Amino acid sequence: MARVACHNRLNSSDNSMFKPRGRLSYFLFVLPLLYIAFGLMATHVHAQSAPPKENQTMSDTLVRTDAEWRELLTPEQYRVLREKGTDRAFTSPYYETKQAGVYVCAACGQELFSSDEKYDSGSGWPSFYQPIDGLSSNKVDMEKDHTMFMVRTEVHCSRCGGHLGHVFDDGPKPTGKRYCINGTSLKLEPKEGDEGK
Ligand SMILES: [Zn+2]
Repeated sequence: MARVACHNRLNSSDNSMFKPRGRLSYFLFVLPLLYIAFGLMATHVHAQSAPPKENQTMSDTLVRTDAEWRELLTPEQYRVLREKGTDRAFTSPYYETKQAGVYVCAACGQELFSSDEKYDSGSGWPSFYQPIDGLSSNKVDMEKDHTMFMVRTEVHCSRCGGHLGHVFDDGPKPTGKRYCINGTSLKLEPKEGDEGK
């Protein structure tokens, strides 16, 4: 009995010596392959999210991680653009300004609205009667919004998905639309030659 028990013990200790070594060599073989695969994927994702060059068209979709947005945006921009927050009325310097220029997305720089189509709605938020490329704009996307106990149409940047504001049907001619936009979501790029005059 004692011999059998001893033999068994020897066998089991033999196995335990070989098994971990087998697993170890497996991992040593597979891990570098995984490392290379993930490295290639990371490079690919990074290339996709790289900021566009100046002459590049801005119709492509920009995907960034939540962590990247938190790093790139101010806390207030993050709250409005990424968490669908709303500026307090009459707080944005863009509400009253009549400076000529193009309003771009504060998150990704896509051109969204023109000062030519901005008007004073009296609402307390910068208002436009259409996006920069018209009502069938591919610069802004719309989505039904069921928050705040009402159905509204939310407007967001088609490139980065950043929340801009809402669109209503009580705007002036010629479109009858009111794009009610958070100043925090915008950045005004003054028209060349208009600045400082
Ligand atoms: Zn954007």
